[in-house]
Amino acid sequence: MFYITKKTIEYRKNRKGNTTEDKLNFVLFESDTVLLMIGLLFLYPFFKYSKFLFTLDAIGNILCLVYYKIIDDKKYQLYSMLALIQVILFTSFATLILGWRTGFYYYIFLGYVAFFFPFYLPDSEVEKQISRIPIGILLMILFFVLYGFTNIVNISSAVVMQKRLEDIFCYINFAVTSIIIIAFAYFYSSLIISEKRELSSRADIDALTGLYNRYVLNKNMEANIELVKGNEKDTDNFLVAMLDIDFFKKINDTYGHNAGDYVLKTLAKKIIKFSKYGMLVGRWGGEEFLFMSSSMQKDEFKECLERLRKEIENTSFKFNGKKLKVTVSIGIGKYKSGMTPTSLVGAADDNLYKAKQSGRNRVVD
Ligand code: GH3
Ligand code: MG
Ligand code: MG
Repeated sequence: MFYITKKTIEYRKNRKGNTTEDKLNFVLFESDTVLLMIGLLFLYPFFKYSKFLFTLDAIGNILCLVYYKIIDDKKYQLYSMLALIQVILFTSFATLILGWRTGFYYYIFLGYVAFFFPFYLPDSEVEKQISRIPIGILLMILFFVLYGFTNIVNISSAVVMQKRLEDIFCYINFAVTSIIIIAFAYFYSSLIISEKRELSSRADIDALTGLYNRYVLNKNMEANIELVKGNEKDTDNFLVAMLDIDFFKKINDTYGHNAGDYVLKTLAKKIIKFSKYGMLVGRWGGEEFLFMSSSMQKDEFKECLERLRKEIENTSFKFNGKKLKVTVSIGIGKYKSGMTPTSLVGAADDNLYKAKQSGRNRVVD
């Protein structure tokens, strides 16, 4: 009991923003708890009306306890097969013995939603999940068979129960299956939303530095060009700058590629701070970073970049006990009407070239 409580709390904590497996475990754990509670609640009425159902329910409750361990061990295939067999047996016997009106057939719907969770499985396992469609069809057939037996053939072994009690069974069964179906529907939809977010951020963000990538920078330049078109005042303030690390190849060659990556990541952290001046910053490619501003005068923009250049010059990048020194060259490009993102970046590149030619470690406009 302590183990279950501990695990449930753990999964409850992890259910948001973590791995798919955490979310799935949360849904499975909670569903199992709901089923166990209801199993325990039904022990008494079953005992009163059918010793056989009582035994079946008792076994089911013990199984529910075992499921916690199976879920925690991530043996999802085993869990879903066992749970499916339990649902089929329990639904069939309870319906046949207690009658159609008690609504035990609702548990069939659990089979539809709960046993189709292939998302988290490895690809090879996902293919096996296709075979769940025949199971779904079998469950549907089971529904009609049970309906036939209890409503058309009217089997005589059915327990005669108060109508009111039948209704209570029916309400509880409907509520329980609904809760579990809602939980699974929520799980599926939240999974799709988080995968969608992940995909779009992967397309916008450079994996190494966490900065915007070239695609985003280009899109923003295009949008800004549209915005400033025909407006002299705004055109004047539309500036970009290209930063390139000096002799970066040497860092890779001397200290290794990992050291180079480390410098890029650390530099990115300094660069991102400059976005507070209303700049858009991102990694253009390799060891080149682009800055874009539409709210500063050129002198102000240059001064800002000069500060960054000095800060980098005065920084020691500590990697594996070694202190690496890095300098950067920066070229500024100013927007002129008729320019495209390519020609604007080209203008910055021309000045960057001048900065490199005149000795590096400087800002040129
Ligand atoms: P310059 O001062 O003229 O810019 O010299 P440089 O050595 O920086 O110029 P060059 O363009 O010849 O070298 C850039 C190097 O950047 C080459 C490439 O190996 C390295 N590089 C590009 N992307 C990455 C990366 O993601 N990680 C690492 N570690 N190195 C990278
Ligand atoms: Mg370069
Ligand atoms: Mg370089």
